[in-house]
Amino acid sequence: MQELELLAEADERAREYLTGIEQRPPFPDQAARDGLAVFAEALSDHGQDAAETLRMLDIHGSPATTASNGPRYFGFVIGAALPAAAAAERLMLAWDQCASSYDNSPVSATIERIAALWLLDVLDLPRESAVGFGTSATACTLACLSAARRVLLARQGWDFDRDGLFGAPEIKVVVSETVHITVRKALRLLGFGTARLIVVPVDAHGRIDADRLPSLDEKTILCLQAGEVNTGEFDPFTPLIEAAGKANAWVHVDGAFGLWARASSRRALTEGIEGADSWTTDGHKWLNTPYDGAVAICRDAEALAQAMNADAVYATASGDAQKNLTLEFSRRARGIPIWAALRTLGRAGVAELVDRHCDEAAWLADRLRKGGFDVLNRVVLNQVLVRCGDDERTAQVRQTVLDTGAGWFGNTVWQGRPAFRISLSSWRTRHEDVARLADALVAAAGG
Ligand SMILES: *Cc1c(COP(=O)(O)O)cnc(C)c1O
Repeated sequence: MQELELLAEADERAREYLTGIEQRPPFPDQAARDGLAVFAEALSDHGQDAAETLRMLDIHGSPATTASNGPRYFGFVIGAALPAAAAAERLMLAWDQCASSYDNSPVSATIERIAALWLLDVLDLPRESAVGFGTSATACTLACLSAARRVLLARQGWDFDRDGLFGAPEIKVVVSETVHITVRKALRLLGFGTARLIVVPVDAHGRIDADRLPSLDEKTILCLQAGEVNTGEFDPFTPLIEAAGKANAWVHVDGAFGLWARASSRRALTEGIEGADSWTTDGHKWLNTPYDGAVAICRDAEALAQAMNADAVYATASGDAQKNLTLEFSRRARGIPIWAALRTLGRAGVAELVDRHCDEAAWLADRLRKGGFDVLNRVVLNQVLVRCGDDERTAQVRQTVLDTGAGWFGNTVWQGRPAFRISLSSWRTRHEDVARLADALVAAAGG
């Protein structure tokens, strides 16, 4: 089969998949998952037919997808894929650009530069910041914290690039008790042992208790968060960042999903956040861009560009080339789907997306409280944290609802006991989907 026919067939199959997305179960049933056994074949010696490979992928693969691109997936904060962003992604596949620098791909470098400016605008962060488009909030946090470590050590007269960590002045790292596991991971990879982290207790909402902040100094990295995974709450940025500023410490904010509140009517939750030194957020979560796309934002543009620099004699580029702001040397222009999302949504569209999910979460929480559930958080954002009676009953009710197909959502642990967590983040989710989930939950609890 010719290339164009094959791609047309892929497009046709993608069209079929999306046509049925609303009816698809949020999580694939057992038969669909058993069907995955066909993929357990030995690698062929001489290769197999491309068209047949595509058919196999669709016939056996599509049914075993989680319908996270649909309206009834309430697990984690995964988001779906906005049409404009998904379409940009399709065209980019034909381009197959290595978007490391302007010389490699003028179109990628140009559009990603625009996307960077728009992000700083819509998130209202310091306009002089560098913006690196990386694969994930994890990778972008690693990039930001590398810059932080390098800067703090340089202030002590230590050349990190040359001398590394051995014998270096000690950097103190302060994190929240509810810090996200991927921030811990980034810190661990950077050589800040987990037992060395200074953990600050949180209040009843999962926010750092500002009164219990340890003393900070000019060798401290303070990690804050916008959007705690269970409660969706925000650390009290103003007092914390003020304390860090006085000590000349570095503040990094993990805002993988919560930073988007700043672009909505919930902006007050992020007050003071603009005073931090670096921030990470995802496109692939609440902005509803396809995987994978995230951003590292660093106020001191040079600091990020130097920490992540990958210039070589055969491949020099400007300081703000994406290969010098992210982990990747060869990379996809992941800023382009983000550009397409922002261009088609506009400021009002971003705000509407975020506000709609927050409003629906508040409505759902209210419905569940009236239905006898314990809603454990204040629901300031898009997360609803729930228990229903004792631990066993909580697990039972969740399973009953998952079996109805009304929605999929995950388990969690809150303050030492099991709970479940309903997240709203798909652009496709309408009120009727949330109402259907609420009905199923209330029925399961009553039965
Ligand atoms: C998802 C998430 C991350 C990690 O983001 P990835 O893009 O999956 O690496 C970090 N922090 C928080 C609060 C998250 O929700």
